[in-house]
Formats: sequence, C-alpha cells, structure tokens
Amino acid sequence: MGIVSFSPIFLLSYFSFWIQSMARRRQIYEGKAKVIFEGPEPGTLVQYFKDDATAFNNKKKGTITGKGVINNRISEFIMTRLGDIGIPTHFVRRLNMREQLIKAVEIIPLEVIVRNVAAGSISERLGLEEGTPLPRSIVEYCYKNDDLGDPFVCEEHITAFGWAAPQDLDEITSYALRINDFLTGMFISVGLKLIDFKLEFGRLWENDEMRIVLADEISPDSCRLWDVKTNEKLDKDRFRRDLGDVEEAYQEVARRLGILPESGPSDLKGPDTIQ
Ligand code: UDP
Repeated sequence: MGIVSFSPIFLLSYFSFWIQSMARRRQIYEGKAKVIFEGPEPGTLVQYFKDDATAFNNKKKGTITGKGVINNRISEFIMTRLGDIGIPTHFVRRLNMREQLIKAVEIIPLEVIVRNVAAGSISERLGLEEGTPLPRSIVEYCYKNDDLGDPFVCEEHITAFGWAAPQDLDEITSYALRINDFLTGMFISVGLKLIDFKLEFGRLWENDEMRIVLADEISPDSCRLWDVKTNEKLDKDRFRRDLGDVEEAYQEVARRLGILPESGPSDLKGPDTIQ
C-alpha cells in the first residue's frame, strides 16, 4: 500500500491557510439579517448578508431569495459614495457576493431615522396619511433593544443615559442630514423617492482618538423607496405588508443603481463565498 507524503513546507502552508480561514470564519455575532465574523486582521470584521428577513420586532419571519447578495452590493455602493463626500464609514471593501470587510466599531445603541415623507410608524403615531410630505426632514432616535422593541427616545434620554455624549449626538444628527441630502438626490436621479431610512453609527478608536463613523448597512431593508411616478413601494414594506414581488423590488433598486450582479438576477443564486 502506497504512502502519500507531503513536504513540511506544504504542510506548514496548508495549516497556516487553514488557521487563517478558521480565524476569518469565527462568528462574533448573528443578527436578523447579517452575521459578523472575525476579520483577517485586528480591528476588522467580516459582515455577511443573509437572505433572512424579519419584521414587526421578529414576529414575522421569512426569506427573500438573493436579498443578501443585493444588499451587500447596494450597501457597498452607497457607503463608497458617502465616503467620497467625506462621511466616515466602517466599510473597507466588498470581499465576495455576500461579504464585506468592515472596521470593527463600538456600535452606539441608537437607530437614527430620517424621514422626508410620512410612512410607517410616524403615520400611525401622528395620524398622518402615508405619502404626506413632511414640513422638513425629521430625525428621530430609537433605543436599539430588541427586548423592548426598539423604543422611541429623545435626546434627553440619549445623553442622560450616556448612550451618546451631546457633542457626539450633534455629529450623528448632522451626518444623518447630510446623508439624507445626498441619498435623496442619488435616488431621485434613478426615479426613486427616499421616503425614510434608518442609520446606525459606531465609535472607531484609532490610537487614543475616537471618531464617529457610519456603520451597519444602507439597503432596501433599511430604507423606504417609492417609484417617483407610480409610488410603487420598492423596499422591505413589500415583505412586511405581503405585497408580493419582494425579490423583484430589491432587484429593481439594484438595477436602477446600475449594480445588478454581473450576469443579472441569475447570479443571485450563485455560490455564497468566492474567496
Ligand atoms: N427601520 C429599520 N429597522 C428598524 C426599524 C426601522 O431599518 O428596526 C427603517 C424602516 O425600514 C424605515 C425607517 O427605518 O425605512 C422608518 O421605520 P418606521 O419607524 O416607520 O418603522 P416601521 O414602520 O418599519 O416599523
């Protein structure tokens, strides 16, 4: 019986590659739509986009085929453009169909919501008909806490409980409004109205300096996008409200932004990871 032998150099490089892959795949956190793995070097993480969708504080669950691939692309596209206009973000680069390399940040436990037109919870809360333009863009904050259902909070809560210092909250709010101006123009140029969206921010520590950076994702999961002419909803409300054609809506947003995966929608069912 023949014995297969490997050179020590081969074995060493094989095990070093294996150890690196294991390190890259070590899961840090699993959220509703994304998984975070340890990154290839200190201070980095890998953000993996799933097809899972949830709504109404996890009460409704489902899958939107190809959503992870599309959101990875859309978020890359938007974060890159925001970086170009001087908004600091956690995004480093896209790694493959479903993963992107990001900087490790300490997430500030706030959902920062910017609204241009009444929809969703503000319509219910204030009795405003969906689609009513707001007198001006409005920034709202929710405390990120699944057990409490992400309650609405005000600046007093945020600073009194120390979730963000007053000057950090000012910076976050001014970034949120700049992002809104930029994204409103970007989406209108492809025939989409930006109704509202949610942002998350993190603290990035470099040496002893702290910087606030945009984190998480920006995608049809976190934005309301309506067709300019027909007001057709092209976002997660299609899933929340059982409107049908959910996959198609996500694809349509990517198509309009010019970033459908190379070979079109068929690419969405391709392999998860191409390293
Ligand atoms: N949003 C989000 N995650 C949340 C809550 C809201 O991405 O946990 C987004 C949502 O997609 C919408 C905006 O934030 O674009 C405003 O959502 P709203 O407060 O109206 O809540 P909803 O109606 O989604 O419950």
